[in-house]
Amino acid sequence: MNDPRRSLPPVDQILADPVLAQPLADLGGKFVKARVRAVLEARRNLPEAGAGELASEVAADVAAHLPAAPTTLRPVINATGVIVHTNLGRAPLSAAARAAILQAAAATDVELDLRTGRRAPRGQGAIAALAAAVDVDGVAAHVVNNGAAALVLACWVLAPGGNVLLSRGEMVEIGDGFRIPELLAEAGVQIREVGTTNRTTLADYQRAVDSSTGFALKIHPSNFTVEGFTSGVGIGELSTHLPVPVVADIGSGLLAPHPRLPSEPSAQAALRGGADLVIASGDKLLGGPQAGLLWGAPNLIEALRRHPLARALRVDKLTLAALEATLLGPPPPVAEALTRTRAELRSRAEAITADLGTRAAAADTAAIDTAVIDTEGAVGGGGAPGVSIPSAALTLPANLAAPLRTGHPAVVGQVRGGALRIDLLAVSPDDDAALTGAIASALTAEGE
Ligand SMILES: *Cc1c(COP(=O)(O)O)cnc(C)c1O
Repeated sequence: MNDPRRSLPPVDQILADPVLAQPLADLGGKFVKARVRAVLEARRNLPEAGAGELASEVAADVAAHLPAAPTTLRPVINATGVIVHTNLGRAPLSAAARAAILQAAAATDVELDLRTGRRAPRGQGAIAALAAAVDVDGVAAHVVNNGAAALVLACWVLAPGGNVLLSRGEMVEIGDGFRIPELLAEAGVQIREVGTTNRTTLADYQRAVDSSTGFALKIHPSNFTVEGFTSGVGIGELSTHLPVPVVADIGSGLLAPHPRLPSEPSAQAALRGGADLVIASGDKLLGGPQAGLLWGAPNLIEALRRHPLARALRVDKLTLAALEATLLGPPPPVAEALTRTRAELRSRAEAITADLGTRAAAADTAAIDTAVIDTEGAVGGGGAPGVSIPSAALTLPANLAAPLRTGHPAVVGQVRGGALRIDLLAVSPDDDAALTGAIASALTAEGE
């Protein structure tokens, strides 16, 4: 009889509360019910669990924390100082790309020519924009699910049952235990390892090539650097001296060289340098949706597109819409982040600090333990390793990390040297107000 669980109100009674009527209509019964269960579960685990809880109280709690859409994926402010954060979904999309997704989410002419009423090539506007984006004559493009899928498709088309030349210095693990050599092996090609970890020469490639070599693969070691006694062979040299096509996996998807990232390869430079096929991800430095981008001569691109398994790697209309808007619309957040200066980031951090101080004074609470510091940000997401980007952060007590992560919106910073850093490099100035509000709420919650 004393089991506190007994005093928790039943789910149906909570769902019947008027505050949940509109959320039930907007978000659906399954979703809201799951949230009610989660809130009940959380309350059950409190020491004073649920004594005398009222259905209306729990309903109000649920209603206060419902998201705008019935998904458990939550919006996060990326205050890590890492521009392309893999665990936060890599590149955030531009407002234009988000609008394009919404527009394409309805019925759309992704495979129909509205003038003739006949079937049209899928996503031809996006594909044309992608081909044009590199500004190299005679180049066509194709899009698949991600960079890994693009590599697999290249193997299927250019080296079926054959071998691929790859320098031992480029045998890369992408992340989360996925290794490029294993990916290639599963795609049915043999890897002919060339050279050594630190040095590979043209002669190494020339000795390794034989009649069953499908292509030479250049992989940009996008998440590490090798220093010291090193040498590699450039795309130009390979394409001039080898009798097989050269495929360049540049990783991050820069279209053209970026002044701030001088060692980061671009699709344009790789194509102009003589690569027959260039592969990149859409959601790294390009700043677009998850996608595998391929550029090459029209006949090769057509062969990729017509491969029977190409269908298994096909992207959906939402990806095509977001990709086209990223390429043709205003600069995406990743590009914007790369233009920020430390001075600008410092002054934003100082403004946020001042705002927090004003709020604390108005609420008559203790002054906040905070400071503005210089930091070194990074591109991240497997791009520009070793490049640090001058940035600035405000520091907060480390015990705020958890309440900020679970707040609305969630804020993810970085705990370093016993303090929480809220780095502004990857935060849009449009989010400064929401960020300040989230910090103020976390401070209030901690103070209680
Ligand atoms: C990121 C990366 C990949 C994998 O691309 P995904 O889009 O994550 O599948 C492949 N090669 C290189 C060099 C990369 O940096």
